[in-house]
Amino acid sequence: MRCPFCGEPESQVKDSRPTEDGAAIRRRRLCPQCGGRFTTFERVQLRELTILKRSGRRTPFDREKLVRSITVATRKRPIDPERIERMVSGIVRRLESLGETELPSHVVGEMVMKALKALDEVAYVRYASVYRDFRQSEDFARFLSDEGLSDDGVSEDGEPVSAADGAR
Ligand SMILES: [Zn+2]
Repeated sequence: MRCPFCGEPESQVKDSRPTEDGAAIRRRRLCPQCGGRFTTFERVQLRELTILKRSGRRTPFDREKLVRSITVATRKRPIDPERIERMVSGIVRRLESLGETELPSHVVGEMVMKALKALDEVAYVRYASVYRDFRQSEDFARFLSDEGLSDDGVSEDGEPVSAADGAR
């Protein structure tokens, strides 16, 4: 597994055990290059979801990308990675239970924001402030205004990838 901090392709597994609910294997990893520590999870994937972006492009739903954006938002917050993992599992289950194989990207974004709001206010505001920079859907603008947030900046894409940059 590639180190998320320095990009070193190999990391060492220091510990490996099932999560509390037994639904995943949690691995603690250490990067031999930069000393960075991170956690990965291995789990069953039941269903393939496709995300429909605002640009009209379709892309396979990427759980790891979702985890990364949430990890960035929760950085240095006192939150156990396993809680984030459970939160993501809950989101994925809800997405799967919508019964559609294709979902607009804002559906995911709004679900993440609601889950983060319940989890940690700071992480929520961070995520929201990144997210609003590239949203322009009217639904989302309404959602933000309901949440008391503005929606001035916009961009093409529907995913909070830029969050990864400002994080370190
Ligand atoms: Zn590293």
